[in-house]
Amino acid sequence: MGDAAMRSLREAMVDRQLVARGISDERVLAAMRAIPRHHFVPASRLSLAYSDRPVPIGSGQTISQPYIVAIMSSLLSELEEGSKVLEIGSGSGYQTAILVHMGLEVHAVEILSELAEASMARLEELQLAPASMRVANGQEGLPEHAPYDAIIAAACAKKMPVTWSQQIASRGIIVAPMGRWRGQRLVKWDEKDGAMHRSDICNVRFVPLVRG
Ligand code: SAH
Repeated sequence: MGDAAMRSLREAMVDRQLVARGISDERVLAAMRAIPRHHFVPASRLSLAYSDRPVPIGSGQTISQPYIVAIMSSLLSELEEGSKVLEIGSGSGYQTAILVHMGLEVHAVEILSELAEASMARLEELQLAPASMRVANGQEGLPEHAPYDAIIAAACAKKMPVTWSQQIASRGIIVAPMGRWRGQRLVKWDEKDGAMHRSDICNVRFVPLVRG
């Protein structure tokens, strides 16, 4: 399939899976219209690149469903351009690319080196490289660039690692799946006056956050 065919699949993805379900943030929609999601799935799964589901990317991991990426990105849309974001579990790099396109300073952490290397090469080629990409355990956060205006995770912890609340800036936000394997909730926390305030967004199913 050529680029024009992929572009029309991408337009249909945005209209039917995102706009039709209430995603209205223009910064998010512009990013998801622009980023060629098919570059982030394996060649053998190309036909699934714009489908309404997560897609396996190798190493037992998946690229998240477009709608979930859109919801998580929309939750970060209150951030001004240039805000500093820690992304944990960058996997294919698709969510990374969306955040970079939104004008955010992204520091990505991925525990599997083969995924981090492949995604960094792809993001550089697309001129969407994050400010940094580290092979590390996201349970520890990433102290060297802290504090972050936002932390976003794509792997589920039973409860929020204490490092994340230590590395969040005043008035910062944390977006992450939380809970047990079945019964996960996508959660947003807002930091205010030294305390974290929790809002539950929706039910989700992510891979578990690997513990170090
Ligand atoms: N947003 C990514 C989602 C990838 S799936 C995408 O759309 O492609 C979740 C990722 O979290 C996997 O790549 C997995 O290797 C990674 N991961 C799991 N536990 C981790 C940990 N403790 N630290 C960093 N990354 C982790």
